[in-house]
Amino acid sequence: MTVLLLGGTTEARHLAALLADERIAAVTSLAGAVAAPQRPEGEVRIGGFGGVDGLADYLRDKAVTLVVDATHPFAARMTANAAAACARAGVPLVRLSRPGWSDRPEAAGWHWVDSIAAAREVARRLGERVFLALGRQSLPEFAEWDDRPVVARVMEAPSMVVPENWTLVRARGPFPLADELDLLRSHSIDVLVTKDSGGPTDAKLSAAAQLGIAVVVIRRPPTPQGVEVVSSPDEALAWVSARLA
Ligand code: NAP
Repeated sequence: MTVLLLGGTTEARHLAALLADERIAAVTSLAGAVAAPQRPEGEVRIGGFGGVDGLADYLRDKAVTLVVDATHPFAARMTANAAAACARAGVPLVRLSRPGWSDRPEAAGWHWVDSIAAAREVARRLGERVFLALGRQSLPEFAEWDDRPVVARVMEAPSMVVPENWTLVRARGPFPLADELDLLRSHSIDVLVTKDSGGPTDAKLSAAAQLGIAVVVIRRPPTPQGVEVVSSPDEALAWVSARLA
């Protein structure tokens, strides 16, 4: 009995620890995109599977009995591949996706969009000095903004050449409210662009609300049809335990 845990998130690490506590055999899979990832407890494998075919082969070769997709809410390709490969291999799958930020009181005043491209167009109209809190992979879609001041916060250096008028902030969250207020004020930011990632990096949203800064939020990609969803590591553990019982 082996559980494959598709990781890369704090929730995946919590679940790996819970499974280890319960002595449930599990392997966490990481994409390998981060140079020094925070390693979860238990066995770890690193690197892509090679699409749906590669993942379906892996499930069969390793006799995987259950899959928990605890990748980031915006890791849409991996989530789609997991749904297709598990359906093909007949392996039960659950999506662990932490709650987004849409229930926050300020959310009704945000500018909700469906894509990075739409976020760019809306943010362009809303202000001049933009804070991009999107992760490095999305930055190339803003590369044409080499004529305006942009603050981009990333954990790892982006692969793109960053325009001269951008300020790159290398940091790993979560960030205290006082620091977020300071960042927004010191760069005179007038628009914040973020994904609806959910989780603990939400102080930027409180800071933007306090300072009256416009907020553009990219909606999550939809979960593939028919895939069960849970929203916490405890719920995912209950799902696994129920199937192993
Ligand atoms: P993605 O676009 O959905 O996935 C691209 C490819 O990366 C997948 O097709 C797969 O390659 C490989 N991959 C992704 N997650 C994997 C995993 N856990 N184990 C093995 N291979 C994986 O994903 P992404 O947005 O590039 O994110 C990559 C990783 O970073 C994810 O694990 C995610 O949890 C984490 N992350 C993403 C974000 C974000 O904003 N997107 C933020 C924080 C962390 P193959 O097709 O070859 O199998």
